[in-house]
Amino acid sequence: MAKLETRLKSLAARLGADLVGITTRDTMADGPPSADPRYLLPSARSVIAFARALDRDAVADFIRKKRWQPHCDNRKTVVRDLYTIGDGLAEQLRSEGHDAVNVDINNNYRPEERAADVTEMTAFHPEFAHRYAALAGGIGRLGWSGNLLTREFGALVELGSVLTSAELMPDSPIPDEAHPCDRCKMCTLVCPVEMIHPRDETRVTVAGITETIARKQPNTCCWIGCSGYEGLDRSGAWSNWSPYRLGRPLPKEKHELDALCIRLQKADPQMQADISGFADYRQAVFDPGWFYYTVCGFCRCVCMPRREDRLANRKAIVNSGTVALRRDGAHTVADATAMEVPTPFNLNVVVPRNEFSREKSGIRPWPDQFPLDREVIAYLDRQAHASEG
Ligand code: SF4
Ligand code: SF4
Repeated sequence: MAKLETRLKSLAARLGADLVGITTRDTMADGPPSADPRYLLPSARSVIAFARALDRDAVADFIRKKRWQPHCDNRKTVVRDLYTIGDGLAEQLRSEGHDAVNVDINNNYRPEERAADVTEMTAFHPEFAHRYAALAGGIGRLGWSGNLLTREFGALVELGSVLTSAELMPDSPIPDEAHPCDRCKMCTLVCPVEMIHPRDETRVTVAGITETIARKQPNTCCWIGCSGYEGLDRSGAWSNWSPYRLGRPLPKEKHELDALCIRLQKADPQMQADISGFADYRQAVFDPGWFYYTVCGFCRCVCMPRREDRLANRKAIVNSGTVALRRDGAHTVADATAMEVPTPFNLNVVVPRNEFSREKSGIRPWPDQFPLDREVIAYLDRQAHASEG
């Protein structure tokens, strides 16, 4: 019979993994706390890391603001595939007498002191960081953005990991001379909340590899941009796919950013929804009616393997315009008449002029509306009726 490592890699490939690598607990012992697999599986000795590529055409349309939904749908499909791959690997390992845990793909944070739930979190340390296992197992290296970059797909991948008590032979990390990040800094230039510093750096060591990556703003800064609470770049010329605006500059100090993030999350109807990616990510992505709402990730989307593509992507993003919320719940490129109006959620929203009026209130809702969009639309409808009545 073939070696266990070979059989696990073949199984992962058969189930749809584009890249697979193996590492061990001992190899990652020099890493940050979230590189320790024993947090989730005390008997863990090895980790199987795997990646699935995102649809490049859907990403290209997303960053050019040609089409929003295909990339959202593709992310949901890819995450479902990763759960399936991990389940298959874990099942195989258990059938051969080993312990195994398929790590949640996202939103798997370690509890924080003084945070009753995710709405009060500010550090967002994962239970286990897929990207460290992927680095250690030779799938990719960390780019300036801190994202995992592969040689084959750039940063356009989603990652999964299975932890196991089996003792496996580790793969080698990608050597420095083949590092896929060339410091083009396009990731810095396409972040609407300026999360990724253009020059200041920090270091992270895993598996004997020391990566020099950008110093970042506190994690709540990305949470505000990536959740869509602020989508507009400081220039005012372009945004991510969010129609929401804070209406004031983001604070600079960490305690102010943290407090703002908590306030916004507490007001966000998504956080009270029965099915949400924060309550149970696996359940949400396998629910056919749950819309995978993604409005940013531009730091990842820009980062394709070829430098000329990254430069073109950055140009496309800064020329892609800004986004408005339509009455049916779709997000659309804002035209010159779009206007910013306040909402009860500590946010302003950009809407096309005259979109909310009595004669438009019969418009059929676009399916799978995002909870915040749905509540904002209902609120603006009530306002329109009140003012016209
Ligand atoms: S966009 Fe450029 S600098 Fe940023 S991670 Fe990718 S290759 Fe590195
Ligand atoms: S996901 Fe968006 S907000 Fe977060 S760092 Fe990347 S570009 Fe910035």
